[in-house]
Amino acid sequence: MNIPMVDLKSQYLKIKSEIDARIAAVIDNTEFINGTEVKEFKKELSSYLNVKHVIPCGNGTDALQIAMMALGLQPGDEVISTDFTFIATVETIALLKLTPVMVDVDPHTYIIDPDKVEKAITPRTKAIIPVHLFGQTADMDRIMEIAEKYNLFVIEDTAQAIGCDFKSEKGWTKKAGTIGHVGCTSFFPSKNLGCYGDGGAIFTNDDEIAEKISSIVNHGMKVRYYHDNIGVNSRLDTIQAAVLRVKLPHLDDYSAARRSAADYYDKAFANCDKITTPARSEKSTHTFHQYTLVLDGVDRKALMEHLASKGVASAVYYPVALHNQKAFQEFSYNPTDFPVTDKLCETVMSLPMNTELDEKTLKYITDSVLEFFV
Ligand SMILES: *Cc1c(COP(=O)(O)O)cnc(C)c1O
Repeated sequence: MNIPMVDLKSQYLKIKSEIDARIAAVIDNTEFINGTEVKEFKKELSSYLNVKHVIPCGNGTDALQIAMMALGLQPGDEVISTDFTFIATVETIALLKLTPVMVDVDPHTYIIDPDKVEKAITPRTKAIIPVHLFGQTADMDRIMEIAEKYNLFVIEDTAQAIGCDFKSEKGWTKKAGTIGHVGCTSFFPSKNLGCYGDGGAIFTNDDEIAEKISSIVNHGMKVRYYHDNIGVNSRLDTIQAAVLRVKLPHLDDYSAARRSAADYYDKAFANCDKITTPARSEKSTHTFHQYTLVLDGVDRKALMEHLASKGVASAVYYPVALHNQKAFQEFSYNPTDFPVTDKLCETVMSLPMNTELDEKTLKYITDSVLEFFV
């Protein structure tokens, strides 16, 4: 047995003829940059997300950087985000010489805690970046309330939750990434909508912000060789857009496949008191970018070695809280401000999660886990 965390090969084989033909067509027509496939993908993704503007870019990290540049944030402005996320979220804040303020997460969903956000606000706070971690959204009702009260921008990091639905207590439902002022996502191959290289996109319903983003991704240029502002070069390759156009119509089925694998895991572990299965938010669907357990009083390293010996992959997202990263030492975070994140870093473990897990494989994985405890 050899069960990887993600299985991009089996997924590809099911759509191979279409993917191969579309990639070959781009090579044939040589529209490598900003080709027709990119323009069509923009339209199709904005219609899927029900958002006015989709601006593709080079990757999810660029998306976050460009979003903050477009909102005109200035050095010294404080941006609040979470301590328990992939580094890109907070790295881009620091890169722009903004001040990253990190807060702890909710112990059940592992997602940014709105109460802690409100407590971290100062007169210099300009934006909040909630991260829709592992496939479900932050409580966007609370985040948007806080943003309105203090006049802050909200940039949603939806790199792990594309296709997820947030159901507001006010009655509406919107896709993750389309609720705040700007949404950012990644098409990294292992993300829920992944291409075959790097890719990303930025979403907004605001015409003015969209225009700024479109200019920044292209060297601050509207008319060729006339540069209105400092920008970057960040584009989605046409070949990647061609791949994404084939995969987008499958996204809801892919999410359903992930959810059904998660249901299987939940059931299998329901009676094991050493394992806490991931909580599901009442306001959000779960697209299970990761299936992450919390282990209580378990030797995690030994369990992971046991799984490896059975050919089952496992991983820790994330082993080091951002406030403990060497890269952020200059910000002198208070080490006692993040008890939930600290505990999660010690106790989380993610199991294989992808679109290709059948029942036989899931049984083998769950049996292998449970066997460790007898
Ligand atoms: C993957 C990821 C990113 C960065 O995306 P890249 O395309 O790899 O640059 C940002 N934020 C989160 C939460 C991610 O998971």
